[in-house]
Formats: sequence, structure tokens, C-alpha cells
Amino acid sequence: MKRDAVFVYSDQLLRYRFSENHPFNQFRLTLTIDLLKQLGALDDSQIIAPRMAADEELTLIHDLEYVEAVKKAGRGELSESAGEGYGLGTEDTPMFKDMHEASAFLVGGTLTAADQVMTGQAAHAVHLGGGLHHGFRGKASGFCIYNDSSVAIKYLQEKYKARVLYVDTDAHHGDGVQWSFYDDPEVATYSIHETGRYLFPGTGNVNERGHGQGYGYAFNVPLDAFTENESWLDSYETTLREVAHFFKPDVILTQNGADAHYHDPLTHLSATMDIYKHIPALAHELAHEYCDGRWIAVGGGGYDIWRVVPRAWALLWLEMTEQQHLTKSFPKEWPAKWQPKAPYPLPDSWTDPADLYPAIPRKSEITEKNKLTVDKLLYPLRSQKK
Ligand SMILES: [Zn+2]
Repeated sequence: MKRDAVFVYSDQLLRYRFSENHPFNQFRLTLTIDLLKQLGALDDSQIIAPRMAADEELTLIHDLEYVEAVKKAGRGELSESAGEGYGLGTEDTPMFKDMHEASAFLVGGTLTAADQVMTGQAAHAVHLGGGLHHGFRGKASGFCIYNDSSVAIKYLQEKYKARVLYVDTDAHHGDGVQWSFYDDPEVATYSIHETGRYLFPGTGNVNERGHGQGYGYAFNVPLDAFTENESWLDSYETTLREVAHFFKPDVILTQNGADAHYHDPLTHLSATMDIYKHIPALAHELAHEYCDGRWIAVGGGGYDIWRVVPRAWALLWLEMTEQQHLTKSFPKEWPAKWQPKAPYPLPDSWTDPADLYPAIPRKSEITEKNKLTVDKLLYPLRSQKK
């Protein structure tokens, strides 16, 4: 029997931890699952365990030499100087014990989600442990060791002959995935993010459109710093609808980084919880419109693990399982349980207060700038139609 949605998770995913104080903290998975369970929105029968990706799967994207280096690093056998060339042992991606196994589970989780959807066992699947979009062929970058989305897209192409639309709503540019498929017209990559002018990784300009045969299949919406909900959502909805219509994918893979929120400590956008309701709603709609429902969702960034990520990712699951009615109330047990551990007052509502942040004086200028970016992105698609 086909299920509506499955939730890929096991405690193995918590092994991906660089150090005690590193901002990338998978404890947010525990907090998200607890919130969903308190809400009565996630049943154990909907949870399936990730498998570990095999070396042959990792090397669909990554160099074998790099995989070997990650294995060595996880055993404490890679010197600092040898690690440097692979981006391992840096401040962003320090080496840690068994880092290969931990990272291979993250990739395996996304492959598990992909198989569930492509074999029709579930219409949709979510793997919040994945979404490590900065991983490169032979190099770790930006908290990412292996790039689960890139591996999964290649896997979807080879095993299922699928045309994949990758949609990345993380506040950082989805550079690793973009470069993996930059010359491939069978994959469309779409990333909406804070402009790289002041933010890692610095790429994701609107004129990065692909290369060779793949020219015209990479899409970037770099938003001005301090962009608020209205302009964020307007830019997203306008562009993604046209991109999906142009590309007509067989399956949609969304990366759901939750770091565009005002509270996020690493970025400079001014969105609130509202966008996390609308982001998955459009992905869901487009998956049914173009892909017979086939939708795979992964996690990503998100560094306010207490006030932002659990609610944002819970909203993703509620959308996927059509349980939005559950947001009529917020489970009081959740903040009560976790408050003693949290560094800030925890939310007790699905929305943020209207006075979350002070008014932004450049608001209209930011909105205008984003409109110009959207027009620039869509111009080739619109002129093609004529
Ligand atoms: Zn990010």
C-alpha cells in the first residue's frame, strides 16, 4: 500500500557532530521529533531508518581519494597538513571520530528517501538529517563532508532515469549541488538565498545559469540582506512556479535549510516562521502538478536550534502529511520539557510576535532590488515562450 509520507530517521544521524560548540548541531532533530510527537503528528509506524551509503554510491559524486581521506580522518590517521587539501580539519569542518560512517548515514538517509518515493512506497519522504549542500567532489566545505543531495540526484538519474528539480531554500547558496550538475540539462538546480556579497559561500549570483549543455538549467535568486517575509515569498513563488513549468521535472528534491529566520545567528535575512509554512506548501503543490506527487525533502542549515528549526521542520512534515490543522494549538509540554536546557525563552506558538524585530528602514529599496533580481532571472524563460 502506498503511504502518503515517510520520515527517515534513526539515532545514527546524531553521530554527525564536529564538536561540543560547533553551530551545526543535529540535536535539532531530537527537538523536532519531540515536538511532532507531542503534537500527535508523527507515529512510529511512519519512521524508517536510514541505511549507510556504500562507497560506490558516494563515488557517484565524490572522488574515491577523498572518501579514503575522510575514512582516515575518522580513524585519527590523517595529518593536519594532509587534511588541508580536502577541507578537513578546518574551523568549519573539523575532523571527528568515525566521521566517514556518520556522513555516509546522512547520505544513505537521502537515498532511502529517494527509493521510497521512486518505488512508490510513499508519495513523499523527508530526511531532515540531510541537505549538506556545500560538499564538493573532493573537498569538505561549510560544515558539509559528503553532499547527500548531489549523490541522491545522480542516483535518481542512474537508477530511475529521473529528471530532477532541486530546490534549495537555505539562506546560503546551494553551491555544491549547483556545481555538481552545472553542465547537465537533465537536472535543474534552483537556489534562493541571501546574496553572497557578505555571506558564505559568496556564489549564487543570478547570472550563474549553467555551462555548456547545462546552460539555462541553473537558477539563482540572491536576495538582499534584511529581506523580510513578503519579498522573500514573492520572489520564491514567482520564480519557482516558472522554473517548474519550464523544466517539468519527474521528481522534486527540496533542501529545507531553516536559517533565513531573523533569529538565525549566521545569516542576515529577516524572515519569520511564516515562510516555513509557505515554502513546503508550494513544493508540495508543484510535486503534485508535475511529478505525480514525487517529493523528497531534506534538511540543511539552521543554527537557532531552539526557537526556529524545530518549528520550521515540524511545519514541513505537517504540510507533507496534510495535518496543517494541528497548528491550531501548540503543545505546551514541549517548551516546558526543554526550557531548562535552552539558552533563550522557547516559543509556545507556531507564529512569531509581530514585533520580533525593529522596522527595517531600507525595506522598499530591498523589495525593489529583489524584484529586479527576479526579473533578471525570469527574462530568458519569458522571452523563450514568445
Ligand atoms: Zn545555510
